[in-house]
Amino acid sequence: MTPLEAFRDEVGATGPVCVRGGGTRWSVGRDPAADGAGPVREVRAPVGVEAFEPAEMTVRVGAGTPLVDLAAALAEHGQEVALDGPPGATVGGALMVGRSPLRRGRLGEATDALLQADCVGADGVAFTAGGPTVKNVTGYDLCRLLVGSLGTLALVGRVILRTHPIPEASAWLAGPVEPSAVSPLVHRPATVLWDGERTAVLVEGHAADVDDQMRRLSDLGMVPVDPPVLPPHRHRVEGGLSGAGVLEVGAGVVHRDEPATAPAVPNGVAALAARVRDSFDPERRLNPACDPHRVPV
Ligand SMILES: Cc1cc2nc3c(=O)[nH]c(=O)nc-3n(C[C@H](O)[C@H](O)[C@H](O)COP(=O)(O)OP(=O)(O)OC[C@H]3O[C@@H](n4cnc5c(N)ncnc54)[C@H](O)[C@@H]3O)c2cc1C
Repeated sequence: MTPLEAFRDEVGATGPVCVRGGGTRWSVGRDPAADGAGPVREVRAPVGVEAFEPAEMTVRVGAGTPLVDLAAALAEHGQEVALDGPPGATVGGALMVGRSPLRRGRLGEATDALLQADCVGADGVAFTAGGPTVKNVTGYDLCRLLVGSLGTLALVGRVILRTHPIPEASAWLAGPVEPSAVSPLVHRPATVLWDGERTAVLVEGHAADVDDQMRRLSDLGMVPVDPPVLPPHRHRVEGGLSGAGVLEVGAGVVHRDEPATAPAVPNGVAALAARVRDSFDPERRLNPACDPHRVPV
């Protein structure tokens, strides 16, 4: 029996069940009231890098694999994926939480990372969403629906992820200038941050290009700095920065010291989301205490 088949059998077809990854975001989207409703069986997804094709820029990996182990395997060939997280975080957990990386300007969103997901549905039947190569999906792109779903639509056993080359050079610069002054001087910055007084920018790429951009930014009064330590809580915003915090420019995310609350979901969207969940999991057995709409950002 393969690890994927063993995972399918462990999930089974009856009773509340969820996957436990590293547990680093266990409370996210979780309704404490629903948590007390009854025991939920916890299963673990398969672990290990199964196949890495550096030339194809894809990797097939068990969803229970720690991100650090995946990063180490990819780094041997100068590649990385657009998933990040604290020590212990797993590939499946990062995808199910679906938070995009700070370096999204270069790596893209978390949804772009997932090409194929081998899953077990609420009926205990295994299915595969997506495909092993970029852009070969016809019909509904289920992988996009799965990212950020907190394991409420299906439990993910194995995935194929898109990889990226690790940049040859990178540098953070910061200075008392507005983001609009920075953008004409940099090509696809990995991140631009704005705290209302200073802009910090992460430039990445070939060493000569990074040097060139650093020269232009230093003419503007920006200086090399260590990577900034951001306030711990992420808030969704529309438009610019208001109040204290650090804005991820162009991402609609502000990092603040105060905890964030989940934004209100329009009635129509909530009703549609409930129907989607019902159609995947009519008995609500998959991660029943979690609601992806309870996640702030
Ligand atoms: C300080 C910090 C920095 C972070 N930075 C980034 C970042 O830069 N980029 C980024 O992408 N993310 C970031 N994150 C989010 C991070 O990706 C998640 O915290 C982490 O990856 C979750 O993994 P986990 O294995 O601990 O999940 P867990 O906490 O174990 O699980 C989280 C949820 O996902 C469900 N789940 C887990 N695995 C599966 C599976 N295989 N199938 C179905 N459901 C599953 C669980 O049931 C649970 O509901 C950050 C988080 C922190 C705390």
